[in-house]
Amino acid sequence: MSFTKERKAFGTTVFQMQNTKFTLAELAARLQVGWAHLDWALKRHMAGELNTAEASAAKLWHTEMQNDVCDAALQLHGGAGYMNEYPIARLWRDARVTRIFGGTSEIMKEVISRSL
Ligand SMILES: Cc1cc2nc3c(=O)[nH]c(=O)nc-3n(C[C@H](O)[C@H](O)[C@H](O)COP(=O)(O)OP(=O)(O)OC[C@H]3O[C@@H](n4cnc5c(N)ncnc54)[C@H](O)[C@@H]3O)c2cc1C
Repeated sequence: MSFTKERKAFGTTVFQMQNTKFTLAELAARLQVGWAHLDWALKRHMAGELNTAEASAAKLWHTEMQNDVCDAALQLHGGAGYMNEYPIARLWRDARVTRIFGGTSEIMKEVISRSL
């Protein structure tokens, strides 16, 4: 977010553009819901109640969201987002593998589908 408040384009800051504010608002809302779900899953895990399908759903949903969030944030950086000088470049790159390791998103869906 700080980058968009500093970066100027078309006589204003990137943050002031409606698309940027809507994108950031959507990400904030998704993160808010995501944290609530993560707390729910952790609480069930600590109590020994989290089942395989629920854990797979959590892995699937949170890693996909991590990728969505990092990708949208990178886009708001423009070309700077692709440069290693900016932390978002590393965050975006690191996010990509989370849909693969620990079980791919496709396998998470396969596991969830077995409980349906
Ligand atoms: C950085 C990194 C660190 C890792 N660390 C570890 C580790 O510490 N310990 C460990 O054991 N492993 C580790 N792995 C391995 C990782 O768990 C596997 O890469 C991952 O489970 C996917 O397996 P695979 O690479 O054999 O892909 P494949 O099984 O060859 O899958 C290829 C593609 O086919 C899809 N696919 C496969 N089966 C199905 C299916 N039944 N239905 C639909 N789609 C399917 C996959 O989703 C994927 O898109 C690591 C991988 C990476 C990249």
